[in-house]
Amino acid sequence: MSDKEIKMKCSFCEKTRAESHKLIAGPKETFICDECVKLCYDILKEGLVEGDTKEFAIPDPKRLHEFLNEHVIGQDRAKKIMSVAVYNHYKRIVNNLILEEGQDEIEKSNVLMLGPSGVGKTLLAKKVAQYVNVPFAIADATTITESGYVGDDVENIITRLLQQSDFDVEKAERGIIYIDEIDKKAKKGENVSITRDVSGEGVQQALLKIIEGTTVRVPPQGGRKHPGQEMIEVNTSNILFVVGGAFVGIDKVINKRANKSAGIGFNQQVESVDTGFDECEPDDLIKYGLIPELVGRLPVIVGCHNLDKKDLKAIMLDVKNSLIKQSQRLFKMENVDLIITDDAIDYVVDEAHEKKLGARGLKSVLEKGLLEIQYDLPEYRDGKVKEITVNKKTLLGEKPMLTYEFDIQETKEDNGTTGKE
Ligand code: ADP
Repeated sequence: MSDKEIKMKCSFCEKTRAESHKLIAGPKETFICDECVKLCYDILKEGLVEGDTKEFAIPDPKRLHEFLNEHVIGQDRAKKIMSVAVYNHYKRIVNNLILEEGQDEIEKSNVLMLGPSGVGKTLLAKKVAQYVNVPFAIADATTITESGYVGDDVENIITRLLQQSDFDVEKAERGIIYIDEIDKKAKKGENVSITRDVSGEGVQQALLKIIEGTTVRVPPQGGRKHPGQEMIEVNTSNILFVVGGAFVGIDKVINKRANKSAGIGFNQQVESVDTGFDECEPDDLIKYGLIPELVGRLPVIVGCHNLDKKDLKAIMLDVKNSLIKQSQRLFKMENVDLIITDDAIDYVVDEAHEKKLGARGLKSVLEKGLLEIQYDLPEYRDGKVKEITVNKKTLLGEKPMLTYEFDIQETKEDNGTTGKE
């Protein structure tokens, strides 16, 4: 060790070159040792962990999963994969903030979510954003034009995220964007036709750029662009993209591959393996019509499943903001209690299950059944109705059972109470 090296000291803890494992030099004879770097990292990290009031939090995957359980029914594997993906994503952002010289950045892992419509894909992404406390925007791949450039449509997606962050660019730059219906922009399958339809490719190309990380220039406050106007620059490198779609028919591609790789020859008669969306691999997505470059940027693949009747019932009753609780709140605003009987709940679940619209069907069936009652609700309120009981017959058009304020008072008096508490 030279004399000069012996004199070098950490400017924070004063450990010498010999006492520390590594000493990093700064300008004008300042140094920091590896231990102080680690300490600084811990301090920074502590400031960014869960529960802190800072702008975003690195989520603990288990706690995030528990939070998702309160809001999303079923999709257990998807919730776990999402929890880990989001945990890693925000750790990556913190890591890249405090990168040591010579260290490489950790690359971003965006998510591809596939599964039927109305089963909670968007909800999962939205709830994750809520938990981490970052802005969230939803876009639809079908509304993006085929320009193939980072054009207006892509800017619109970023503008939406900026709006969700009150035009705070820093906040927007670590938000989450859900892009729905990417499967509608798939090229037609490899084997379909020689003159194959390439219509979706331009959109996939345009998305590729923002998903990978680019700087998008948007007009301030989302107004129209005009020449000479100062633009807001948003870097998309730290935005987490969750790209979703129903991918109808991909199960056939997955099964075909799974059967092939199980070593099935031409002469063998074997039952088809129902591997489901969980077994989807990048190759299956490429066969389906996503371009390899896009698939490469979506390394986390999450499968979501159809909801059975038990799940639908839980969505009606058990989740934090269940449909029944929401309806009851709307009635309560008119000072009327809404009671929905078990047979009415079962009816809604059966009808929604039949419609195959996932949980979306629940809302439409319930809304249809409650339409007349909601139309008459102000009258019921003025007529001193206290409770409205809805059973299956009511949902099918019969009048509901009404309980008036005085009925309740009389009952209380019969029970020896005054009716005034
Ligand atoms: P997708 O994105 O899969 O088409 P969404 O997440 O938009 O479906 O679901 C539509 C609505 O249905 C949600 O806002 C939510 O109210 C309800 N929903 C769907 N799936 C679930 C689920 N698994 N758990 C709780 N609610 C759900």
